[in-house]
Amino acid sequence: MQLASSSSMPSNHYDVIIVGAGIAGCALAQALATLKRPAPLRVCLLERSLAEPDRIVGELLQPGGVEALRRLGMVSCLEGIDAVPVRGYCVVLDGKPVHIPYPDGHEGRSFHHGRFIQSLRKKARTAPGVEAVEATVSELVECPTTGRVLGVRATRKTEGEEKAVHKETFLADLTIVADGCFSNFRNTVLSGAGMKPVTKSHFVGIVLEDVELPIPKHGTVVLVKGHGPVLLYQIAGHDTRMLVDLKVPLPSDIKQVILDEIMPQLPTSLQDPVCSALAKDRIRRMPNTFLPPAEQGHHTKEGVFLVGDSWNMRHPLTGGGMTVAFNDVVVLQDLLNDVEDFGDWNEISQVLHRWHWRRKQFASTINILSVALYDLFGADDESLAVLRVGCFKYFELGGNCIRDPVSLLAGIEQSTLLLARHFFAVALYAIWAMFAHRRWITVDEKPVYVKPGFEEYPILFFKCIRVFWTACVVFLPLVWTEVRWW
Ligand SMILES: Cc1cc2nc3c(=O)[nH]c(=O)nc-3n(C[C@H](O)[C@H](O)[C@H](O)COP(=O)(O)OP(=O)(O)OC[C@H]3O[C@@H](n4cnc5c(N)ncnc54)[C@H](O)[C@@H]3O)c2cc1C
Repeated sequence: MQLASSSSMPSNHYDVIIVGAGIAGCALAQALATLKRPAPLRVCLLERSLAEPDRIVGELLQPGGVEALRRLGMVSCLEGIDAVPVRGYCVVLDGKPVHIPYPDGHEGRSFHHGRFIQSLRKKARTAPGVEAVEATVSELVECPTTGRVLGVRATRKTEGEEKAVHKETFLADLTIVADGCFSNFRNTVLSGAGMKPVTKSHFVGIVLEDVELPIPKHGTVVLVKGHGPVLLYQIAGHDTRMLVDLKVPLPSDIKQVILDEIMPQLPTSLQDPVCSALAKDRIRRMPNTFLPPAEQGHHTKEGVFLVGDSWNMRHPLTGGGMTVAFNDVVVLQDLLNDVEDFGDWNEISQVLHRWHWRRKQFASTINILSVALYDLFGADDESLAVLRVGCFKYFELGGNCIRDPVSLLAGIEQSTLLLARHFFAVALYAIWAMFAHRRWITVDEKPVYVKPGFEEYPILFFKCIRVFWTACVVFLPLVWTEVRWW
């Protein structure tokens, strides 16, 4: 591990410090190491544990994320980790599947998160000028007069002496915080700018052994009544991840709720493996948090900025977090190529301003889509349930009703306008289906499958106004979180 810089800096002084060697931190270290400069930057990558993490996050990388990795020269990190190709999705409602393939042969990858992280770390640690240090950052070091961040203080685990700890100061021209969703430094860096993170639900994760999904090599989304959606995707030769979305407040006996209320709604071939996994596997859970990005630079703390989940989070239903993080780094790398002095906050602030708006094209689309789709798929009122059925029926139409939405979700297409067009097309189709499609009703205690009669139109007309209003209330505030400029 390391140091190829020709710099004559003292050993604890770097050009850039990165806090966190996760998805964003590793990609950023590699990107900084490959900037077009006369000599490589001296980058310190601080990570609290370099051991392989065992987490239920970041296990499906969309095709748009694979492409970003390729642009960063890191696509080889997907090799040798038993990764599985992902060719699209299968959405299941009431036992009925709809096939949603990625267009034009695009592929994503799914894998064990820990193996992927170790592969990214290996690549980042061997990049020129990058020094990886196993240490937990406890505070930002600020100039007592200007408040500018000059570096960090961290506690290092000394090799060979597991218990010995040393608090050290690491200084840099620029500090970048990539410490993930539970960031300890978010509030300090943003200095009150931006919105508060909102946790709507939790994903509960288990691993199923040797199951066959309804469509192999496709992410499966099962829409269940009374709870959020269930996600399944193969993450290795024999392992399939199942994530169950449970709304807050969480039930006291999660296992029992999965067994009694969710398992019966899953495809029958999955029910026995779910039972076995629940019996022997430890249930793990993670909060699903939404945090819109706030502009950083002139209004936030000097000398430091946030990247990755510490700055911007979306619902993980659409598996977009890593794709956004890698694409963010691609844009940043391009902008940082022109920076002469990493200690010049004016120059960095201009980069941050341009980054904030240039990334909107892809990040906003993925952010908005994730939360809007979650609201529909996790429908918890009558109007949302109408939209959920409408969305499923819209996918059944095929053609562009599948191709465009899945391209946006996969990070292949980037257009908030296209997303808005399809979202409201779903709403209008859902309304039309209320009038024109047959549905089950009970007549004389017998179920019958009929279209609504004219006598039902006044009430349906009232309902369709509520459905359209609900669609606006879901979508427009999300757009607002992305376009607000302060
Ligand atoms: C349940 C769930 C499932 C998800 N599934 C997917 C998915 O399938 N596909 C997808 O694209 N995205 C998914 N995501 C989102 C994705 O995991 C994140 O967007 C991504 O991991 C963010 O990367 P990051 O680098 O910001 O944070 P992380 O990858 O979490 O990295 C943060 C790093 O910082 C380190 N760190 C933290 N504090 C300190 C400290 N004080 N000192 C030193 N080091 C520190 C941590 O150890 C960690 O290594 C999911 C999220 C959740 C919650």
